Amino acid sequence: MKTAEDFKEQLQKRNITEWVIDHCEDCKNPIRYMFYSGEVFFNIDCSCSIGIDDRQASWQDIADYYNYQTNPAVIKDMDIFWGFATAQTTELFNPPKTKPF
Ligand SMILES: [Zn+2]
Repeated sequence: MKTAEDFKEQLQKRNITEWVIDHCEDCKNPIRYMFYSGEVFFNIDCSCSIGIDDRQASWQDIADYYNYQTNPAVIKDMDIFWGFATAQTTELFNPPKTKPF
Protein backbone atom coordinates (compact mmCIF):
# COMPACT_ATOMS: atom_id res chain seq x y z
CA MET A 1 0.00 0.00 0.00
CA LYS A 2 1.27 3.44 -0.93
CA THR A 3 0.20 6.75 0.49
CA ALA A 4 -0.35 10.10 -1.14
CA GLU A 5 2.95 11.23 0.41
CA ASP A 6 4.87 8.43 -1.34
CA PHE A 7 3.72 9.74 -4.70
CA LYS A 8 4.48 13.37 -3.87
CA GLU A 9 7.99 12.36 -2.92
CA GLN A 10 8.63 10.32 -6.08
CA LEU A 11 7.18 13.04 -8.27
CA GLN A 12 9.76 15.49 -7.01
CA LYS A 13 12.64 13.02 -7.24
CA ARG A 14 11.80 11.97 -10.77
CA ASN A 15 10.40 15.18 -12.25
CA ILE A 16 7.21 13.48 -13.34
CA THR A 17 4.75 15.74 -15.17
CA GLU A 18 2.12 13.21 -16.17
CA TRP A 19 1.13 9.63 -15.47
CA VAL A 20 -0.61 7.88 -18.34
CA ILE A 21 -2.74 5.13 -16.84
CA ASP A 22 -4.57 3.98 -19.96
CA HIS A 23 -5.49 4.84 -23.53
CA CYS A 24 -8.74 5.04 -25.39
CA GLU A 25 -8.98 1.83 -27.38
CA ASP A 26 -10.22 3.66 -30.45
CA CYS A 27 -8.43 7.00 -30.78
CA LYS A 28 -5.44 5.97 -28.60
CA ASN A 29 -5.51 9.24 -26.74
CA PRO A 30 -4.14 8.99 -23.21
CA ILE A 31 -6.13 8.77 -20.02
CA ARG A 32 -3.83 10.38 -17.54
CA TYR A 33 -3.08 12.26 -14.39
CA MET A 34 -1.20 15.49 -14.91
CA PHE A 35 0.83 17.35 -12.34
CA TYR A 36 1.57 21.02 -12.20
CA SER A 37 2.19 23.55 -9.46
CA GLY A 38 1.85 20.79 -6.88
CA GLU A 39 -1.70 20.04 -8.02
CA VAL A 40 -3.13 16.92 -9.60
CA PHE A 41 -5.46 16.88 -12.58
CA PHE A 42 -7.30 14.01 -14.22
CA ASN A 43 -7.41 14.39 -17.98
CA ILE A 44 -8.98 12.53 -20.88
CA ASP A 45 -8.94 14.11 -24.30
CA CYS A 46 -10.88 11.55 -26.29
CA SER A 47 -12.89 12.63 -29.29
CA CYS A 48 -14.79 9.36 -29.67
CA SER A 49 -16.07 6.91 -27.06
CA ILE A 50 -15.00 8.14 -23.63
CA GLY A 51 -15.37 11.87 -24.09
CA ILE A 52 -13.44 14.74 -22.66
CA ASP A 53 -12.82 14.95 -18.94
CA ASP A 54 -10.52 17.49 -17.35
CA ARG A 55 -10.81 18.12 -13.66
CA GLN A 56 -8.84 18.59 -10.52
CA ALA A 57 -7.97 15.40 -8.66
CA SER A 58 -6.10 14.75 -5.45
CA TRP A 59 -2.94 13.00 -4.36
CA GLN A 60 -5.15 10.51 -2.59
CA ASP A 61 -6.74 9.64 -5.96
CA ILE A 62 -3.28 8.69 -7.20
CA ALA A 63 -2.63 6.47 -4.18
CA ASP A 64 -6.11 4.93 -4.45
CA TYR A 65 -5.61 4.15 -8.12
CA TYR A 66 -2.29 2.48 -7.36
CA ASN A 67 -3.55 0.52 -4.36
CA TYR A 68 -6.63 -0.65 -6.26
CA GLN A 69 -4.61 -2.52 -8.91
CA THR A 70 -4.33 -6.29 -8.55
CA ASN A 71 -2.62 -7.35 -11.78
CA PRO A 72 1.08 -8.01 -10.96
CA ALA A 73 2.19 -6.87 -14.42
CA VAL A 74 0.37 -3.57 -14.00
CA ILE A 75 1.78 -3.09 -10.52
CA LYS A 76 5.29 -3.79 -11.79
CA ASP A 77 4.92 -1.20 -14.56
CA MET A 78 3.64 1.37 -12.08
CA ASP A 79 6.52 0.61 -9.70
CA ILE A 80 9.04 1.13 -12.49
CA PHE A 81 7.40 4.38 -13.54
CA TRP A 82 7.28 5.77 -10.01
CA GLY A 83 10.66 4.36 -9.00
CA PHE A 84 9.28 2.07 -6.32
CA ALA A 85 10.68 -1.09 -7.87
CA THR A 86 14.40 -0.82 -7.20
CA ALA A 87 14.70 -2.64 -3.89
CA GLN A 88 12.35 -5.43 -4.86
CA THR A 89 13.87 -5.94 -8.30
CA THR A 90 17.35 -6.18 -6.84
CA GLU A 91 16.17 -8.88 -4.47
CA LEU A 92 14.56 -10.85 -7.27
CA PHE A 93 17.59 -10.84 -9.50
CA ASN A 94 20.19 -11.27 -6.77
CA PRO A 95 18.90 -14.03 -4.53
CA PRO A 96 21.06 -14.70 -1.51
CA LYS A 97 23.75 -17.24 -2.26
CA THR A 98 23.09 -20.08 0.11
CA LYS A 99 24.54 -23.10 -1.60
CA PRO A 100 24.88 -25.97 0.86
CA PHE A 101 28.44 -26.90 -0.14
ZN1 LIG B 1 -11.22 7.91 -28.01
